[in-house]
Amino acid sequence: MSAVLELRHVSAGYGPFHALFDVSLEVQPGEAVALLGANGVGKTTVARVASGLVAPEKGAVLVDGTDLTGADPHRFVRAGIAHATEGRSVFSSLTVEENLRLSFRRSKGARAVPGALRAAFEQFPALDRRRSQLAGSLSGGEQRMLSMARVLVEAPPLLIADELSLGLAPIIVDEIYVQLARLREEGTALLIVEQQVSHALDLCDRAILLDHGSITWEGPSDDAEELIVARMFDHGTGAST
Ligand code: ATP
Repeated sequence: MSAVLELRHVSAGYGPFHALFDVSLEVQPGEAVALLGANGVGKTTVARVASGLVAPEKGAVLVDGTDLTGADPHRFVRAGIAHATEGRSVFSSLTVEENLRLSFRRSKGARAVPGALRAAFEQFPALDRRRSQLAGSLSGGEQRMLSMARVLVEAPPLLIADELSLGLAPIIVDEIYVQLARLREEGTALLIVEQQVSHALDLCDRAILLDHGSITWEGPSDDAEELIVARMFDHGTGAST
C-alpha cells in the first residue's frame, strides 16, 4: 500500500529564503504522526508543502503514490488531503449554519449539504446550539471549531492539523483532540503540527522533530516526549507540554 503522503528530499522556501532542507517523511494510511519543533523551524512550511500551498524547489511530494509536485492545491484536496489551519477563516456576517452550508456546497456539492450539516451539528453540539448566531459574534474558540467543522465532518484520508490548539482554552483543546481521536478511529491518517507536545504525543504513533528546516529525530511517540521536550528547551523555546 502506498503512503498517504510522502515528501522525498524536499527543499522549499519563500523567494530567496530557504525554510526546508532535504526533508523526507512518510505518513502511512491510518497512521498519526506528530511534527514537532520550536517556533520558526519550518513546521508550517512542511504542512503547506504537503497540501500543495508551497511548491518544493527540489524534491517531490507524493499523495497516495501519485506525484503531485508543483500541482494546484485543489488536486491535493481531491487526492484526499484536508488541511486545517490555526486561522479562523469564517464569514463573520453569516450565521453558523450559513457558513457550513456555503462550505459544504463548495466542497461536496449541493445534494450532500443536508447530510453534512446534520453530521457537523452532531459532532459539534456547541455549534448546533449557536446555529442561528452570526459567526462574527462567536468566541475565538467557537470560530476555530466552526472552521474545523468544515473539514472534519467526513474522515479524509489525511488530515493535516496545523497548531489547532494555539491560543485556545484547555477545555476547547481537549474537545478538538477528542474529534481528532474520533477521526483516527474512522481511519484518517493525521499529521499533527503542534506546540502542545503532550497532547500530540498521546494521540500519535510516531513523532518527527524538525530543527532549522531539517529533520533531526524521528521515532515512536513513546520514546519521544522526554527527548523532544529536552531538545526544545535546549533551543530556548517556550514550548508547552
Ligand atoms: P511557528 O511555530 O512559529 O508557526 P514553524 O515551525 O511553523 O513556526 P514556519 O512557519 O514554517 O515555521 O516558518 C519557517 C521559516 O519560514 C521562518 O523563518 C518564517 O519566518 C519563514 N516564513 C514562513 N512563512 C513565510 C512567508 N509567507 N514568507 C516568507 N517567509 C516565511
